[in-house]
Amino acid sequence: IPEKQELKQLDERCKHPIIGADSFQQFDELPISSKTLSGLKRANFIKMTDIQRKALPLGLCGKDILGAAKTGSGKTLAFLVPLIEMLYRQKWGPMDGLGALVISPTRELAVQIFEVLRKIGREHSFSAGLIIGGKDLKIERGLIAKMNILVCTPGRLLQHMDQSAGFDCDNLQMLVLDEADRILDMGFKKTLNAIIENLPKQRQTMLFSATQTKSIKDLARLSLKDPEYVAVHEKA
Ligand code: ADP
Ligand code: MG
Repeated sequence: IPEKQELKQLDERCKHPIIGADSFQQFDELPISSKTLSGLKRANFIKMTDIQRKALPLGLCGKDILGAAKTGSGKTLAFLVPLIEMLYRQKWGPMDGLGALVISPTRELAVQIFEVLRKIGREHSFSAGLIIGGKDLKIERGLIAKMNILVCTPGRLLQHMDQSAGFDCDNLQMLVLDEADRILDMGFKKTLNAIIENLPKQRQTMLFSATQTKSIKDLARLSLKDPEYVAVHEKA
């Protein structure tokens, strides 16, 4: 179907609650674009995992999410699909600047997220960059000025916010904090607070963490608005 018609249908279906979402098992039952669906299929993502089944219908209609699920449960797609779809539905383009930010505790995890983003976003035309240090600061500066999506580690991101004139996040629509408990364990609490302080208040935020500690609750209070709590517990 033509893109314009698809966008209209997606807008229509992406209202809270998404009708029938409780029984959805597969990605192709969700209100997502044919571009994203095709990226998912090519990567062999057909059936949703539990955390995806719970989080995606909420994330797709713009809800803030506090998500808890152990490693390996499929949290990456639970935030990347709503991120891509939100930008697509808003017809995000090169002139719109930075639309979404993903913060990850380590370089290694950031690279993994970036690779999944490239795979499932291959039919979309957004620009995406990795900001994880270890590269020349000047080269990164040139990159960030052009990107719609950034996947970052906290220290390096704050460094750019403080020191790079080209860093502009005024248009930001979505923030993802992945493995937030690990980010805090690594001593990035102040850094994270300073980053959040710099971001527009009007945005969608998804916070994922394997554990629910007091410091995660504090971070959630600081960064989320009227969040939906989504948890998947290990089966005995
Ligand atoms: P987490 O972030 O919760 O630790 P990941 O998002 O890294 O989990 O996913 C763990 C593994 O499961 C990855 O290898 C990923 O490719 C795979 N995976 C995730 N979602 C699906 C799915 N819906 N179908 C098949 N494999 C999946
Ligand atoms: Mg993960």
